[in-house]
Order: sequence, then C-alpha cells, then structure tokens
Amino acid sequence: MASKDSRSWGSRLGACTIASWHSGDVTDTHALLLDLDRTLVDLQSYTNYAAALADVQELVGEWSDVDVPTTDWDRATMSCMSVLHAFFGDARWSQISATIARHERAAIPQSDLMPTVQECFVRLVSGPTAVITLLPGDVARDVLEFHGLRIGQEIDVVVGRDPAMRPKPEPDGVIEACRILGVAPGSATMVGDSTWDAQAALAAGATFVGVPADGFEGDMRERVATAPTMDQALQGLGRE
Ligand SMILES: [Mg+2]
Repeated sequence: MASKDSRSWGSRLGACTIASWHSGDVTDTHALLLDLDRTLVDLQSYTNYAAALADVQELVGEWSDVDVPTTDWDRATMSCMSVLHAFFGDARWSQISATIARHERAAIPQSDLMPTVQECFVRLVSGPTAVITLLPGDVARDVLEFHGLRIGQEIDVVVGRDPAMRPKPEPDGVIEACRILGVAPGSATMVGDSTWDAQAALAAGATFVGVPADGFEGDMRERVATAPTMDQALQGLGRE
C-alpha cells in the first residue's frame, strides 16, 4: 500500500508541541534518537550470536522465554536479546551481558555503516542526537568511533544496555536519553530498523520513523512513518 511520504510525517513533526517535563530544562529543539545496529552500523550480521548463546547457556543453563515483539532477527540473536529481559534484575545479568558483549566486540572490525549514513554526518552534528541501543555502552561507543561517528560531535549521548534500565522494547532508554539531552520525549523522534525500536519510542511518547521502510510490515507499518533511507529520514525531519 502507499505509505506515508516524507511530507506527511514532516508536517506531523511540525505540529509537535513541547510537553511539560520534570527536568525544568526544556528547550524547543527537536532531538534525534537513533538505534545503532542496522540503523547506523550493521554489527549484527557479523556477530556470532549462536556462539554467544552457547556461552550464555553454559553460564546459566535453560531459562523461560519472555514475551517480546517479533523481528526479522535469527533465532540466536533473538534469544541473546531476550535473555537480557528474562534475567533483568537477576544477579547474573551483568555476567550474561559481558558474555554476549565479547562476541559483539569481536565483530567491530568487520562491521559496515548502513546505506547513506556516511552522507548524514553533517546532519547529525546539526542538532541534539542520542543513540539508544541494546549493545553495551562501551561496545556501542567503540563501534561508532570505529566508523567516524564521534561522541560529542555527531553523537551527543549513548544509552546502552544497563542492569538498571529495562532494555528496548521498554521505553526506559528513550526516556533516559531525552532526560540527558534536556528535551521532552514528545519533542524527539526516534529512527530505527526494528519493531523493538518502534515500540520503545511510542511507549515513551516520542515520534518514530522506520528505516528502511520495507523492514516494517503489517500492523507496525500502519502505526509508524517510514523512510527508504537514513538520509531521507533526516531530510524529512528538517536536519540540514
Ligand atoms: Mg536495530
């Protein structure tokens, strides 16, 4: 079906109003919130999540699955992300996270920037920009810097997986990134590639744009705006 084009969501963003916010430090700047994996950089395709999953199983044995949204991730990737939900609040969480992180870190040298992201660097510098990711913060910072996305330049804030913060699709990371940037979630737009990003953004009260557009199907395609590429998404958001 015909999806919403850039004009339709551009004008919707223009209609955003500033919600009251407890920090008392609200600006009228529109903040950009970005997923990392397969939105800015493809690390996932090079991460051996099957090996990570085997290491996690050796560490903790079996566990009960938790209810999370469907994605196009393979079974091992999905299990590695789900185990972080299943063990949230458990003393073993940090050890599980570190076990998976070893495999994620090992993939950094093979990882690729996603299409058109190279052309977006100036657009990222031009306004408040946060990355909210299921990767640990240190791995996220290193993979971003590896591709020339500098913390404090292109990216202002990185919110990674954290034992004290429920991971996406929960809204905690989106809310935390907005708090650090000093903007209300209602004045922020998240760009991401998965239903987990969309659910986290919408639950926080932020706007969401799915990139690439064909990654969003069925019910989710009806609920969110999409853009074919990151560059087109940022143009639509008015990032010069
Ligand atoms: Mg992603």
